[in-house]
Amino acid sequence: MKALFGKFAECRDLPALDHPAVPDERHLPGAEAFGGLRHLRRESLSVLRVALEDFDRNRLALAVDDLFYPAKVNLAVVLNSQGRNDEAEALLREVLEAFPAQHDVEYSLGLLLAEMGRYAEAERSFRSVLETAPPPEQLETGLYRLALITSELGRKPEALEFCAELQRLFPRSRFVEPLARLEADLRPLLANGVPFRIKDFVGRISRNDPNTLSLKSEKLHQIIGGPVSVLPPDTRHVDYDVIPLMVADGCLYHCDFCCVKSNRSFHRRSEANIRRQIRRLKSFYGANLGNYNALFLGNHDALAAGWEAIGMSAVEAYKAFDFEKSNIKNPGLFLFGSADSLLNAGDKLFEALNRVPFYTYINIGLESADAATLAQINKPLEPAKIRDAFQKMLDINRQYLNIEITANFLLGDCLAPGHYLALIELIRSGLDRFYSKGAIYLSPLKTSCNRSALLRQFVEIKNKSRLPAYLYLIQRL
Ligand code: SF4
Repeated sequence: MKALFGKFAECRDLPALDHPAVPDERHLPGAEAFGGLRHLRRESLSVLRVALEDFDRNRLALAVDDLFYPAKVNLAVVLNSQGRNDEAEALLREVLEAFPAQHDVEYSLGLLLAEMGRYAEAERSFRSVLETAPPPEQLETGLYRLALITSELGRKPEALEFCAELQRLFPRSRFVEPLARLEADLRPLLANGVPFRIKDFVGRISRNDPNTLSLKSEKLHQIIGGPVSVLPPDTRHVDYDVIPLMVADGCLYHCDFCCVKSNRSFHRRSEANIRRQIRRLKSFYGANLGNYNALFLGNHDALAAGWEAIGMSAVEAYKAFDFEKSNIKNPGLFLFGSADSLLNAGDKLFEALNRVPFYTYINIGLESADAATLAQINKPLEPAKIRDAFQKMLDINRQYLNIEITANFLLGDCLAPGHYLALIELIRSGLDRFYSKGAIYLSPLKTSCNRSALLRQFVEIKNKSRLPAYLYLIQRL
């Protein structure tokens, strides 16, 4: 169960939170004089976004530096819309330092901080706005935000007081409906003898209904460019709780038996695409990032993306997602590879991976070392290559402390008899003793019909294996 990240963004009646720093033009004295940005509204954001991508950002910032503060506020809006909230915050703070009396900027900062899940800081911003006798519109919205924030911070009675104050000052408030919902949520929490924290916890769970979760997963898929059809089996080590980041699409082979493959041929994502995903993922997970310590580099053969893409993604994501401060220690990095991408990966890749601040698991789909079986499943590889890849897996596992390569093989009652023999040859005869590092995962073919025979076969393989052996459970995101 995740915490309530993005709660405020879920309030459909608060559209400004999508672009928290968008102030009304009436609050932007001088905006009229600033040619290109004069009519910056939502429909113009895409234009500025393109401009921001096309031009060196620093030059653009310098260009606006000596002009009106609204230009910087508008830039903050664009940065926020791109998920670059840290930069947006820095710009707003810069403006506030130069123009401390601009309470609409403080107000925008409050919105941004609330979106980032930094409720205590957001509260300070809204309170300071309210202390300045703001215009009615800001007073009304500020009170509503403070009701939400204090509720989120667990100060339910205070939240109810803000609701009451809002209703007293603005009997016909435009927040009347969400306010009624908030009060309906809050009052039962305070009404009977059940401890408040328990009620609050149950309330949080009930707000994550299937519909909300489905919307969240749609948004996640939109950020990373599609669903994750399967997670590496090694993600069991982190209870499948990974942040997905796509570095490549498609795979090198298109095996017939595979039910998780994509139809696309292998294609590495651009650096800009990966960086954009990281920014948006950071914003998507928000305050909940502290509950993650694992990264999945997707999709089906991230190892083939090469060191530069893998290294950059791992290091940048580690920084952006603040894994160093995660509530869960020992961060893990997970990716898939293939026989070819493993054999093609040079020492440089493994040496560098061994140094990143993760323990890295690379899961290789080998499937079988038997020629008849490889032909049967239409995997375009020779047994010799499978054996070489398996040997390289053993070598890497012995050589690098922070890297663990695991392999997948098939399990099925309709596979050629040589499959079982070739597998035992690899995982028993080829090893002098038991090794705890480098598990093998057995994937039951969906065409198998005799489940108990399959289970017996698995137990037999497990007993003979000199590597840890597990069933591969398909998990998706
Ligand atoms: S088994 Fe691996 S390589 Fe084969 S189609 Fe599926 S994802 Fe691609």
